[in-house]
Amino acid sequence: MIVSSVNASKKKHTDSQQAEKPQTLRRVWRVFRPYRIHIILIVIVIILTAAGDLVFPLLLPKVFDDAIAHNDMNHLLLYGLIMAISVGMTAFTRIAQTYLSSFVGQHVMRDMRNRLYFHLQELPFRFFTSTRVGEIQSRLSNDISGAQIAVTDIFVNSLTNVINTVGTIVAMFYLSPLLTIFSFLLLPIFGWITYKVGNVRRRLNTSTQQSLASLNALMQETLSVSGVLLIKTYGRKDFAKEQFEKGNQQLTNLGIRQQRVGRVFFSFMDTFLSLSPIAVYIIAGFLIINKIQLVSITVGNLIAFMYLQGMFFAPFSRLLSMQVELQGSLAIFDRIFEYLDLPNSIQDAPNALRLPAEQVRGEIRFRNVSFAYKNDEYAQFGPLIAKDDTKEASEEESVAQGENDDPTLMPFQQATLRNISFHIEPGQLVALVGPSGAGKTTITYLMSRLYDIDNGVIEIDGHDIREVELSSLNSLIGTVTQETYLFHMTIRENLLYVRPEATEDEMIAAAKAAAIHERILELDNGYDTLVGERGYRLSGGEKQRLALARILLKNPRILILDEATSSLDTHSERLIQTALEPLIKNHTTLAIAHRLSTILTADLILVLDHGSIVAQGTHQELLTKSELYADLYQKQFVLEKVDA
Ligand code: ATP
Repeated sequence: MIVSSVNASKKKHTDSQQAEKPQTLRRVWRVFRPYRIHIILIVIVIILTAAGDLVFPLLLPKVFDDAIAHNDMNHLLLYGLIMAISVGMTAFTRIAQTYLSSFVGQHVMRDMRNRLYFHLQELPFRFFTSTRVGEIQSRLSNDISGAQIAVTDIFVNSLTNVINTVGTIVAMFYLSPLLTIFSFLLLPIFGWITYKVGNVRRRLNTSTQQSLASLNALMQETLSVSGVLLIKTYGRKDFAKEQFEKGNQQLTNLGIRQQRVGRVFFSFMDTFLSLSPIAVYIIAGFLIINKIQLVSITVGNLIAFMYLQGMFFAPFSRLLSMQVELQGSLAIFDRIFEYLDLPNSIQDAPNALRLPAEQVRGEIRFRNVSFAYKNDEYAQFGPLIAKDDTKEASEEESVAQGENDDPTLMPFQQATLRNISFHIEPGQLVALVGPSGAGKTTITYLMSRLYDIDNGVIEIDGHDIREVELSSLNSLIGTVTQETYLFHMTIRENLLYVRPEATEDEMIAAAKAAAIHERILELDNGYDTLVGERGYRLSGGEKQRLALARILLKNPRILILDEATSSLDTHSERLIQTALEPLIKNHTTLAIAHRLSTILTADLILVLDHGSIVAQGTHQELLTKSELYADLYQKQFVLEKVDA
């Protein structure tokens, strides 16, 4: 299902832009629909403004041909008063227009940010392992604010200019159809060229946003605490600078190209538009001087017509360049929609089963489970340096990028796990052992449905986990990983994150059981101490004990444990082990074993190699029947025995 959706999305990209645009426009409209009342008001206000602007020129023939020509002071004052009122009215409508448009703009962006963030929260783990954080952040911040400009500036200005242009044309026709037609002879050509320039701008805009996202991702990675640590300890500053410079240069080039595209054309068009009134003056003057009755025109009419022509060209030329801007902003909307369209394959089945934790015994069964990581699915969102989409890829490039490769031969299709079958009785401790890359972590990921399996079944108490509500599954299973993630919040908030309704006493009891309570009390603000970015102010052992307190507080039915390989000091190690023992005793536990005590006490040990279970049994049984196990035991565990 995922693959087909991805193919569909790829196909979408190759379709002609003409086919894509109405679709994007329709979707943009759907985003605006909740604010249609405001939009109608904006349109009314814009029409009023445009009408107000037309009062002045339309009264000019009256001023010149009626009032001044006939020495009529009363009418002159009356026309002057009407003109003044119209100017006052447009000042007021312009204020209303600004207020309404910023209201709609801000609210539409709020909705888009919410939709995007909510959708990202629903996306499978797979998406986050194959997309760079900076890229995701860029869509949420840069693209959304780009779209906001599109909304507040481009949408309202386009509408204003359309209405002004149409209103002015109607008024010009009213004054002199022949002069109007003459003035507009060349306009279609300009319209067409603008449209073409707009298409190029749109593609450039997509590339610019991509490039910006890549640079963001690079900054996010290389300026994060872990990234900086790596760069400094390995002396890779120059490489990081080089990478940044490259991405930065690409962004600059795109920016320059974006500015350049259409500049010559627009200058030419501006010059032409400025010159064309001269031609109208000459023709109209010629007709008046020679009294040619081809067109009935008075001096007042001519002055009004020229005033209108001046009024027309400004919004019209803005409209043409606006069309170009609009194309660019559609590209930004496309990028947001692209994320919103990402399929979410891991979600509740229809009529999914709710499994209350107290009714679950904790029996786990894997039946012939096979699984392969398919990372190509979201690969398009994580290039190191963004590809320039405005250039057609050469044939060699396409081949080099593997576009013509047979997907069945690709490495991602090779299964990471093959025909995995095992059974864990409620309350048992099962240890996973095997060489690095054998698939131990993957098995634990599958238990929590971070990924869905390709074949076979995983059952909890006889229920296929794909038939169980994800929220039930999450509350049943608790995972302790090697790397402890702490949010930039207080210790209390970090602990209660997994069970917000827990009482103070329960929290303290969990912290005591994890042997971290005393240490927390020593901190400046006790439980209200803020832990730094990713908990950096705490030591590795302290963070692990906090993670343990968190899991004790959650008290899940099934425990998944990735035992730390990192060099915790013996004291911390013992504290953690002591805290874990009762937890393991009372829960079904699946542990990636790195400790001697775990394999010695495990009810069952699964020996994994290259994605298959090659042996299973207790420690004593495996020592005699599995060469791989005996070998692993010697290399991984015996040293610890010697230490102990
Ligand atoms: P270790 O003991 O080193 O942690 P492990 O037995 O836990 O290893 P896994 O992490 O399950 O191994 O990885 C099994 C295989 O799957 C490895 O070859 C690994 O490279 C691959 N793998 C893991 N995660 C991904 C991923 N997100 N995408 C593609 N392949 C992956």
